[in-house]
Order: sequence, then structure tokens, then C-alpha cells
Amino acid sequence: MKNIRMSYFARTALAILKKKQFILYHKPTTSCNCRCKFCDFWKNNPASPQTSTENVVKMLEEGQKEYLTTYSLWGGEPLIVKDLGVWLSHAKKLGYKTSLCTSGYLLEDRFHDINNFIDIILLSLEGVYEEQDKIRNTPGLFERIVRGLNVFQADSRVKIKIWSHINRLNRKSVLPILRFAKSRNLTVEFFPSNTFSDYNEDIIFAMKERYDIFSEIMLLKKTGWPVNNSIEALKLMRGDKNYRCNMARNGVHVDSQGVLTPCEARFAEKMLGYGDFQSDGFSKIHDPRIYNENVRNLEKCRNCLFPCIAESANNIYVRAWLRFADFAAGRDS
Ligand code: SF4
Ligand code: SF4
Repeated sequence: MKNIRMSYFARTALAILKKKQFILYHKPTTSCNCRCKFCDFWKNNPASPQTSTENVVKMLEEGQKEYLTTYSLWGGEPLIVKDLGVWLSHAKKLGYKTSLCTSGYLLEDRFHDINNFIDIILLSLEGVYEEQDKIRNTPGLFERIVRGLNVFQADSRVKIKIWSHINRLNRKSVLPILRFAKSRNLTVEFFPSNTFSDYNEDIIFAMKERYDIFSEIMLLKKTGWPVNNSIEALKLMRGDKNYRCNMARNGVHVDSQGVLTPCEARFAEKMLGYGDFQSDGFSKIHDPRIYNENVRNLEKCRNCLFPCIAESANNIYVRAWLRFADFAAGRDS
């Protein structure tokens, strides 16, 4: 992994010890370049104005003073953003670890803009060849993903991990995805698709189906396939145990309009906002009344199990230490 300074580890450890949020999740745009069958974000969010570069620069600078050490972009599709390279370059100058989630459609096109400034790419893959194009309703997507991988893997030390939503549509794609990952020397983190009512309820697993599929994934991991989820996280995904979500403890979300919340508004319920970046900056994120109520409410939330959420659930000190140790040893991020 390139470009991650030792100060990142020290500052993140300090943030955890001081009980401060350390991940800045940013949704820079509501625009998507896919029409996914399992996620309705594209449907409900026609193109909206993107966050301005001036605001992002300010946000990164102020965030750095508030213990935020990881800049994580998701969407919409972050690779649509014209100034993305400028934002990431500034984030790196300030010592952030940088990551982004992408459909991969523009991976090849944006290589030169982002290659030097991005640490981790979470590449979405729910099937191979035409299966991927079908589930994301985007002709030519898989081919574009492969072209993007070709340029990054030929000339880059950016860590690329596959993130794979699993639901009734792609239940049979687990092994093909793992075969593809193995052929490209990549690892995969699976997770159950989130429910969006009136859009995808018929493809979401019932508990028994979820138990079966994540048991299979666990077995595949134990037999050497490149599954990067920890066994502990897979147990949560198959529904073995209850869990405590630490999102409000770990992160602050900023949407494309600059609104600050402890989690994504369409997933989490019962949360208090931290204001608006334009008028409040980050002044409210450590307000004990708002922060403590968010921690109390969101730790009971069970509305998603993204890999990063499952990996950081329950005892935050133990999980953070294990993830840090893996990250430092280059096993994970
Ligand atoms: S999964 Fe990503 S690309 Fe697909 S609709 Fe949702 S936000 Fe857009
Ligand atoms: S479980 Fe709830 S609070 Fe936690 S990350 Fe998911 S939606 Fe947000």
C-alpha cells in the first residue's frame, strides 16, 4: 500500500482512544452510471449539483483538525466527479487514508486523475460477464471493469478489493466471482443487499436463505478461496448473532448538499443531524448531547451489513485493533 503515513495510524488510534469519529464518509453526487436491480438510488436521485471543490477542500482541512483521518467516497458514483483527482490529492497532502466505492464503469478513464492519490478502491461486482451487466442494467459494464483493472493492475499499487452485494438474483454467482477474483489476484468481501421497500423486497434473502449462503461463503473461505470477510463478520451476515453497530462512534457522513449525519439518511432511522457544513462546519459532531444520542440509537440499528460495518461491529477497541493489525500487515484495509 502506497502513501499511507505512519501519522495516519497514530492519529486514528488517538481518535479511537479519545472516542472521536475518524471516518469522513462523503457522497459527492447523487448521480449513478448504473441502473442496479438491487439498489434504487439511481431511481430516486436524478442528477443533482455536486459538492463544490472549494467546499471539499475546506471540509478536508477542517476535518483533519477534528480527528478525521479516513476520507471515504461513495455515491452515487464518485468517478463521475470532474475534480475528483484534485480532492484526493488534497486529502493525501493532509495525511488522510483515501478510499472510494465504484461501479468500475469509469475506472480506466479516471486512472491518470486518481492513481497517485487513492489508497483503496472498493470495486462492485455482483456477477461475471453478462450477469454483471444484467444485474446492474448497464450494457458493457463488465468489459469496462476488466479494462479498468488492466490499467490499475499494470501500473499501480492501489489496493483493489471487490465488494459484492448478494441477493436472490446473484446467489449462484458467488463461485464465479471468486474464480474471477482469484484469476486477477484480488479478494472479495460479500454482504447481503439492503432492503429498499417497494423496490427490491422480493430479491432480499429470508433468514434461512441468508444462513445458507453465508455458510457456503464461510466454507469457501476456509477452503482457500479469496474471501476477505472475517469469519466473525460472516457469522453476523448469516444471522448467528446480534451485533452492535458502531457507525455513530466511527464516522460522520456528508451528503452532496453538505448535510452532516452519523449515517446515510436512507438507511438509518432515528438519528440526529450534525448540521450543515456551510453554516456549522464540524462544530456539532462532538456535541455530547447529539453524539451520545446517536451512539445509543444507531448501535441498535440492524439495517445494513456492509463489510466495513460488520468488521467494526461490537467491541470497537478489539475490532479496531484487529483491523489495524491486518491493515499494517498488508492483509486487509
Ligand atoms: S449500487 Fe451504486 S451505482 Fe447502483 S444504483 Fe446504487 S448507488 Fe447507484
Ligand atoms: S446498521 Fe444502521 S446505523 Fe449502522 S451503518 Fe447500517 S444503517 Fe447505519
